[in-house]
Amino acid sequence: MKHIVNKNDIVELEIVDIGANGEGIGKYKGYTLFVNNALVGDLINVKVIKTNKNYGYARITEIIRESAYRVEPKCPIADKCGGCQIQQLDYKKQLEFKENKVINCLNRIGGFRDINMEPICGMDDPYYYRNKSQVPVGKDKDGEINIGFYAKRTHSIIDTDHCYIGSKINNDIIALIRNIIIKYNIEPYDEIKHKGLLRHILTRTGHNTGQIMVCLIINGNDIPNKDILIDELLKAFPNIKSICLNINKEKSNVILGEKIKVLWGEPYIIDSIGDVKYRISPLSFYQVNSEQTKNLYDIAMEYADLKGDEIVWDLYCGIGTISLYLAQKAKYVYGVEIVAEAIEDAKYNAKMNNISNAEFFVGAAEEVLPELYKERGIKADVIIVDPPRKGCDEVLLDTIIEMKPKKLVYVSCDPATLARDLKY
Ligand code: SAH
Repeated sequence: MKHIVNKNDIVELEIVDIGANGEGIGKYKGYTLFVNNALVGDLINVKVIKTNKNYGYARITEIIRESAYRVEPKCPIADKCGGCQIQQLDYKKQLEFKENKVINCLNRIGGFRDINMEPICGMDDPYYYRNKSQVPVGKDKDGEINIGFYAKRTHSIIDTDHCYIGSKINNDIIALIRNIIIKYNIEPYDEIKHKGLLRHILTRTGHNTGQIMVCLIINGNDIPNKDILIDELLKAFPNIKSICLNINKEKSNVILGEKIKVLWGEPYIIDSIGDVKYRISPLSFYQVNSEQTKNLYDIAMEYADLKGDEIVWDLYCGIGTISLYLAQKAKYVYGVEIVAEAIEDAKYNAKMNNISNAEFFVGAAEEVLPELYKERGIKADVIIVDPPRKGCDEVLLDTIIEMKPKKLVYVSCDPATLARDLKY
């Protein structure tokens, strides 16, 4: 079928809007085209990649006139790599984009009007902040080792030895492991053939303690030359506290398997946020941006407005980070989390910090809370939820409404599901 434009056509386009994932949106004779790496105000030539009935996708072939908000991305591979979407946009404008995205979701999906939005709280220096790096290892057509992030919407690895948003030490650790892989012929995993050994490298560095964890995700039970690997890592990075293997033999794109084998040190590292220390295991969730986590938890604390006599439920609590943060100012805090290892960390963390007014439950929040409410008639003055992107289950929201807490603080990483849940 003929459209206004067809695949491989080259057309001139002015970008007039920004899509939900940061892509530029332009209209060619009324037909909508989505263009990666294009910014509002750009006048560009694009090549059409794909067309649907009402909209299509295109890529930039030439920038005729640059948007006033276009900056040179720090990272030379920002346009190819799937890790970053809008690095070519001035950071102030990035924040504006995010703020508008939240307002639009609350308006359109949530049906909320006239929202009193507080100013967005950005970073002073939005680089080298991620405390965790998790990178796939593979080989290219010529047999060269590739380590980096997947290209946008694919599983081909964009090789890099320097990620501008990952912590510098994690970059250095991955560079060292790359040399070891090459020197000792450690075979990368091949996703298509389901053969080879090393799938991913995971490193975590405690922002406040400097403690380092290195975890290799492998399609096997063991790794050759592990003594050399351990020696070289410890020699170069004396702050390493944990070197482990994660066993994942599944033919699947889930990154982590269930089993952890410690090669050296402890099966965890310790970091702190504010005055609270946290033990973090490889399988546990831990916020990746430590500077902003402190801001986030302080704001959650402010909104909870605790006076000291409240019963608080922290749902989706991970290793008990928010729970223990709030326990400092609450009468009692309960946490619920689905990953058993994370709850073990949470219990340990309560003890390590001498916090005795906190208790944790393993299970799905939408099962645990309704059950405890029906069977034990539990109460809540304040409920915090911090679900993954898919948001909360309706059964959980029903129970929260029945429990009538005085306050609900919803920490969200996806404004669309936030708006949906708030409406419900
Ligand atoms: N509040 C924590 C964790 C937030 S991430 C922090 O700031 O560190 C969301 C957490 O929800 C993850 O730990 C994930 O394992 C957990 N989770 C996912 N689905 C869940 C469910 N149905 N019930 C309870 N926890 C869940």
